[in-house]
Parts: sequence; C-alpha cells; structure tokens
Amino acid sequence: MMDFSDLKKVLDRPNPGLAMHRFAGELYPICRSITGNGFRETLRLIRDRIPLEIHEVPSGTAVFDWTVPLEWNINDAYIADRRGKRVVDFKQCNLHVVSYSRPVRATMRLAELREHLYTIPEHPDWIPYRTSYYKESWGFCLSHRQYQELDEAEYDVCIDSTLEPGHLTYGECYLGGTRSEEVLISCHACHPSLANDNLSGIAVATFLVQALASVSRHYSYRILFIPGTIGSITWLARNGEKTDRIKHGLVLTGVGDSGPITFKRSRRGDAEIDCAATHVLRHSGKPYQVVDFSPYGYDERQYCSPGFNLPVGCLMRTPHGQYPEYHTSADNLDFVRPESLEDTLEKCLKILCVLENNRTYRNTSPHGEPQLGKRGLYRSVGGQQEGAVDEMALLWVLNLSDGQHSLLDIAERAGFPFETIHEAAEALAHHGLLR
Ligand code: ZN
Repeated sequence: MMDFSDLKKVLDRPNPGLAMHRFAGELYPICRSITGNGFRETLRLIRDRIPLEIHEVPSGTAVFDWTVPLEWNINDAYIADRRGKRVVDFKQCNLHVVSYSRPVRATMRLAELREHLYTIPEHPDWIPYRTSYYKESWGFCLSHRQYQELDEAEYDVCIDSTLEPGHLTYGECYLGGTRSEEVLISCHACHPSLANDNLSGIAVATFLVQALASVSRHYSYRILFIPGTIGSITWLARNGEKTDRIKHGLVLTGVGDSGPITFKRSRRGDAEIDCAATHVLRHSGKPYQVVDFSPYGYDERQYCSPGFNLPVGCLMRTPHGQYPEYHTSADNLDFVRPESLEDTLEKCLKILCVLENNRTYRNTSPHGEPQLGKRGLYRSVGGQQEGAVDEMALLWVLNLSDGQHSLLDIAERAGFPFETIHEAAEALAHHGLLR
C-alpha cells in the first residue's frame, strides 16, 4: 500500500477531474429524491466503483423527532394542451415536477393550474427546483418563457407518481484503518438533475474512497451517501453508539463550481478538522474562505446538533444560495468544472493527510539544543541540498515538542506548511530525538 503522504502518487491517474465529471454526467439524468428508485439507482452506480453497503429503512420508522416518510416514485408527468401536445414534460427534464408531488390526473383551467406552477421571472430560461417532502401537495416547475406561452383556457394535467409505504435508502462505505477511530465523510445524493448541488459531492466522495483504498491508513473511514437532513438524522438515530468513534468529519457539497474553495467550521470551531482544513487552505497559494459554523446549510447541521456536537465541518466551493444557478436547471454539467472537482479532491486528501500524520512528540534531548551537525541533520548550511530537511523546521519541532504541541500546532506557530514540519519530525524521530 502507498504511503498517505505521497499524494502525487495517490492522485496519479490520468485526469481525475475529467473522470469525476464523467461520473457526474452518468448520474445527471436520474430523477432522485429523498427516497425511491432514483436514489437506489444512484447508489448502484456508486457501488460499481467502490464497496458500498445499501441500507433500507422502512417508512414510518421513528428517527429522533422525525419519521421516515413514504417512498416517492414517478414514471411520468406533463401538462398537455387540448390537442394533446405536452407543453411541460417531465421526460424532457425531471426538474419540471415538484419533488414528492402526489399523483394527479385532471383537466383544469389555467387559472386553477397557475397556483401549482413555479418559475423564476428574473431568469426566464431556467427551471427552478422545488420540493414538497413533508406537506402533501403537487406542482410543476417551468421556465418563465414556457409559462408566458400558456394561453389556452384548459389543460390536461398528469403526475403519474406513487407515494406509498416503502423505504428510505442510503449507502455506507467503510474502510478500516489501524485505529478504530473514524473520519466521517458525508454527502447528500437526493437531488434530481442538479450537478453542483449533489453530484459534485458524490463524485468527489467516490473518487476519494478509491484514493483512500490505495493508501495505508491510521484512521478508519466511513463515507455516507444519504438523502439530505432525513438521511443524516436516520443514520445518527441508528448508529448512536458509533458516533463516539468519529474524531473528524467533512460534509462534501457544492464542490464543482468555479468559485474558490470554502470551509465551514464545525460547531466546536477549534476541532482538529477545523485547524487542519484552515491550514491546508492557507498554504494552498489559492484564494479560499473559511466561515464560521451556523445552524443552516447541509448535514453538518445534524452532525453538529447539540446532542452529538461532532467535529464535522463542511467543504464546498461557492456556498449554497450565493450563486444564481443554485436550485435551478442552470446548475447543470457545464456549471461544474473538472478542474474544480480535481482541486477539491486534492484539498480533501491534503486535509486527511494532515490528520493522518498529526501527532504529538516529546523531545528526548530537551536541555539545550541537541547537536544536529554530528547527526548529519545540518546538512548544507549556505546552500540547501535537494531533499534536505529544512533546518528551521527541525528547530521548531525540537523546541515545541514538549508533549503539549502537535505537529499541526507547530506548523501553525512556525508558519510552515504541515508537510515540512512532518518531514522534520520524521527525520528527528529517525535519529531518536523525538518519541
Ligand atoms: Zn440543494
């Protein structure tokens, strides 16, 4: 197995960004929702690439303050004019139907139908994405242009859906490490044809698992592909005893747009994942932002609810709601960039690499500085050799390794990238100067 620190090798496959984008393209046409066959089909396609256990939880199951809902499936839906021409057609775009719409078959006057139509007047070519999971209703989403073309008095309306007792489905992948302590990676997979919001996270998480499977790991990794909110609540309700093992976590969402990367801190704010992610982004040489926790957003809300307060942050690019394409048909495959997916995957691996290698040492020769020259550690004063360990990094590690400072603490205080401090620590440990 490869060493985790050798990220170049770990990422060494031809164009991972393009491969992730292609995978998102495979998943894009599927009509997903928080339950149903679209979600199952998505999990099967993920399972073709990584080991995945698929769980089914019956409708009606109590999960904390919530109840697993009825399962929703849809075959077809349309609004047709009196000549039978479909003016709005689910088969053209699955966003046309409000997710969880109850079945409808009716002829109705436009005035009545209008109450069930949703558009975005300021973006007349885009179709909005709407849901009605927990309140029984129905509706259609259409472009404002389509809406303005409606003129007949009466239309045939059909939503061929089912809303029946069934299951909530989620996928779970577990990669064991030398420790039972876990890193949790979670992404939502419950949106229909929306590329950045849902598919980008799924693609990066899937490829992350492939990369993690090829390296030697200290931590064990648990990766969840779940429906938003109800999925994380369901997982937490069924796995309460496992949550003590979760030492670090990341929600991956909206990780494919062209904006700079954003890390949202965990509720704790000063957890190791918060420090590691911030450190990696600060040393990336690229624009980024770190934002504080707030009880809104994605499944970090559930993992960071006060009863759990898990150290789970959220990695995204442009935060949800801060780009006009969010929750519209314009969040399509063109909106997601291969290079952004690749950059996110690399950042994830770098953050995990810090967590894997972060430990606290004690200097075995703490009275005065140990003599580095006689150990060959002061290799090249006045001209760094290739591969030489940074001397300042050696001195920082020796000075701060008092059993109180982790390598990440030292990297932060010294202003060095974590890799440099880690290399220095490895060299010092090799010479018996750290334990
Ligand atoms: Zn969303």
